[in-house]
Amino acid sequence: MVASSLQEVNARIHTAASAAGRPDPRLLAVAKTQPAQAIAALAAQGQRAIGENYVQEAAAHQRDLAALGPTHDLEWHLIGHLQSNKAREAATLFDWVQTLDRGKLIGALARHRPADRSPLNVLIQVNIDDESSKHGCAPGAVATLAAAVADEATLCLRGLMAIPAPAPDPAVRSAAFMRMRALFEDLRRSHASVDTLSMGMSDDLELAVAEGATMVRIGTALFGARPLAS
Ligand SMILES: *Cc1c(COP(=O)(O)O)cnc(C)c1O
Repeated sequence: MVASSLQEVNARIHTAASAAGRPDPRLLAVAKTQPAQAIAALAAQGQRAIGENYVQEAAAHQRDLAALGPTHDLEWHLIGHLQSNKAREAATLFDWVQTLDRGKLIGALARHRPADRSPLNVLIQVNIDDESSKHGCAPGAVATLAAAVADEATLCLRGLMAIPAPAPDPAVRSAAFMRMRALFEDLRRSHASVDTLSMGMSDDLELAVAEGATMVRIGTALFGARPLAS
């Protein structure tokens, strides 16, 4: 069941990217509320990048997967809000943190990234629709945060992430994705390591890919509806 969902999602991504004349973006499988077995099933189909909303749930998934057998070569992404007091744990559990949105996290993540690991990949989360309910920095704060991340030897600045407001009008959503693309192009001009624009979810991946997403974050379309609100 999961296998065919993965094929369907990859086909959606490929169709959207072809239509836009772009290379296929990477697929991040969002595993919140799923059992480790569901992750293992996707991994067996070749899916590598796994997205987690909570530090504790990621730790549990990694532990449960290890218990299921030889650990697959998975790449772990934090896509949920990061509290400062969890920065230390996040710096060891994850390969990517997509939700860096304030300066305070930079030193904490850099300091706690183990020296024997490759640098922690970082995306800056942008509150692109200026929603009071959402985390993420203001578009105008990206350059300063990016420079501070780039200064840290144990961090690698890779790009930007956003969760646009769930506007029913696709044109409004596309406009938000387009603004993200412009910010991304700006950032790329000043930082050679920047190559990732993470945007688009199950409902709007086609819109995001059309506007230049290089990574889409997909939960429901891969795993089915989540049992709990999240
Ligand atoms: C849950 C979640 C997703 C995936 O959403 P779906 O609609 O289930 O595909 C993507 N990004 C973030 C930040 C999420 O919290």
